Amino acid sequence: MLNTIRQIVLCANKRHVLEQIRCASQALPQLSAEKYNVKRKAFATVQSTDVDYFKSILGNERVLTDDNDVTPFNIDWIKNCRGQSKVVLKPKTTKEVSQILSYCNQRKLAVCPQGGNTGLVGGSVPVFDEIVVNLMLMNSIVTLDEISGALICEAGCILETLDNHVRERNLIMPLDLGAKGTCQVGGNVSTNAGGLRLLRYGNLHGSILGLEAVKADGTIIDCLKTLKKDNTGYHLKHLFIGSEGTLGMVTKVAIHCPVLPKAVTVGFFGVKSFDNILKLYKSAKSSLGEILSAFEMADHDAISITVKNLNLPNPISEYPFYVLVETHGSDEGHDGEKLTRFLSKEMESGLILDGTVTSEPGKMQTIWNLRESIAGAGLVQGYVFKYDVSIPQKHYYDLVPKLKERMGDKATVVCGYGHVGDGNIHINVSVPEYTREVVSLLEPYVFEQVAALQGSISAEHGVGFRKPHYIHYSKDESALRLMRDLKTLMDPNGILNPYKVLPEVD
Ligand SMILES: Cc1cc2nc3c(=O)[nH]c(=O)nc-3n(C[C@H](O)[C@H](O)[C@H](O)COP(=O)(O)OP(=O)(O)OC[C@H]3O[C@@H](n4cnc5c(N)ncnc54)[C@H](O)[C@@H]3O)c2cc1C
Repeated sequence: MLNTIRQIVLCANKRHVLEQIRCASQALPQLSAEKYNVKRKAFATVQSTDVDYFKSILGNERVLTDDNDVTPFNIDWIKNCRGQSKVVLKPKTTKEVSQILSYCNQRKLAVCPQGGNTGLVGGSVPVFDEIVVNLMLMNSIVTLDEISGALICEAGCILETLDNHVRERNLIMPLDLGAKGTCQVGGNVSTNAGGLRLLRYGNLHGSILGLEAVKADGTIIDCLKTLKKDNTGYHLKHLFIGSEGTLGMVTKVAIHCPVLPKAVTVGFFGVKSFDNILKLYKSAKSSLGEILSAFEMADHDAISITVKNLNLPNPISEYPFYVLVETHGSDEGHDGEKLTRFLSKEMESGLILDGTVTSEPGKMQTIWNLRESIAGAGLVQGYVFKYDVSIPQKHYYDLVPKLKERMGDKATVVCGYGHVGDGNIHINVSVPEYTREVVSLLEPYVFEQVAALQGSISAEHGVGFRKPHYIHYSKDESALRLMRDLKTLMDPNGILNPYKVLPEVD
């Protein structure tokens, strides 16, 4: 057990906080098609005969057509996008997904694949009347090999449910994110979700051992291998990881689960400047080595709006910046010694001004809860522009002060937080309401700045509906051409998640 620099008594419950955020704004968002001035493509429209066909394969219960039932599937998590779908389908098997897609492809009916609908770039909801195919009922765990750590499950399994399941067998899921209680593993794969522990366990291109997917024409692609090594030709699974439902629907996933760490410790520190955060990161890497599992930062305003809007306690006093360090190891004594040495050294050097360290599960959860709730804290009032970008670490925070100056009193809050270890910063700009004037101040400015710093305009949330027309800031025309060729090859009628990821060709 490590020294607790300052004991904390906190009592927030994550589910409750996410609900609070979600219920904060009950107003229906404007229709995406109007808000973003999008023209409907020449897809067929759903007829009663189509609904009859879907009912013939799924039964009446799993075909939603009532407005009240369909509305939640049309609106994204941050209540920014609203589609106009009239039909939601809930398949239970891969065969049903295949039948649905094959039929839609022949009829040229557009489809929006949907998981937990926690995506933050508008990719998970329709723009017009695309049929929503939600995999929530494909939620069975197929097998778990406790020796290799290979888990096979259906794509609709909730990430947190999977994590609870494998924890009972001394394993953990290799990814963790604030939306884990709602997002589905198929959605995680389709967005190549990053999250809080990518620093330690790598990204999904490494952890996904294999998958099963259904192409637009209904063909089932079986790449559901659990081997660590398989160099037999093209690594097709990678086409589906991060393709945001535009190349196929992921129906099953084989994922490598690391061993449950025997010793976990979380520290939360106050820091004077972003330069000092970078120094601290360098020091943490060398002092903590292989046990470092997360190195997260948040600026003063990010923590202060979370504390204020969601009524969460801050375990330490107010500082310009905060750092959350987590270790995952196998020996409590050994890990504790390392962390204590790191702390003493950096408190003496002045890099850490104040902080708290704990290995008590409830307290660690409360600190994580504060960090994870930042994503939604601004949504409680007004409108939030959220930018999820990668920037080389030495320029990681540069854009936040620039944006503060540019926005002046048009923004109520401009704050930055994120995964320093991955060079991934989230910048939230809160404004009283969404207006074209504010949009023109922010875009394409943010993306131009990111490109000038050799960054990526989407670090982990994807391109979705919100960023296709900015993708050229991160992808060269030759790469975009190959992306279009792949799309044409795999989905010649373009029925899968139209208006997403790929920019329109003039
Ligand atoms: C509070 C909060 C915190 C978050 N934190 C993080 C974070 O730390 N890191 C991170 O990367 N993301 C984060 N996100 C974003 C989001 O949770 C992830 O993108 C997640 O992976 C989406 O999963 P989902 O099941 O909700 O997918 P959805 O939102 O339903 O869909 C996302 C995209 O994937 C497609 N899709 C979904 N399921 C399938 C499928 N089975 N087959 C094919 N395509 C499919 C959809 O069409 C859409 O384009 C956060 C979101 C919230 C609300």
